[in-house]
Amino acid sequence: MAIIESPIAEFPVSHSSFSEPIAWQPPVWMAFGACRGQTDTFFAPHAERPQARVKREARARRICQGCPVLFECRQHARSNLEYGFWGGESEDERAMAGFPVPAPVGGRSRRRIS
Ligand code: SF4
Repeated sequence: MAIIESPIAEFPVSHSSFSEPIAWQPPVWMAFGACRGQTDTFFAPHAERPQARVKREARARRICQGCPVLFECRQHARSNLEYGFWGGESEDERAMAGFPVPAPVGGRSRRRIS
């Protein structure tokens, strides 16, 4: 591994950092989520009907209400423009708070066109 000079002296950069894939590590708070093992409740299945989405998101919201990492989860979802139900918020609620997903589906789009 060769060390090259970085424009920022305190942060030397190695050649390998440009070519080796970086393994994603989940944030520590995720290990404490009350939703572990319940992915189907937090992410929509293909072609989910609106009535089914309302019921699924109500189940997710109940689980989130008792979660010890709700704040961290909500901040993560907003910062990363996540899909699905996170931190007690649906995609629509995050969009209304100013954090829309990059490619909203159909009528769920909340993007402003200016
Ligand atoms: S706040 Fe909700 S979505 Fe986030 S980790 Fe907790 S249970 Fe899961």
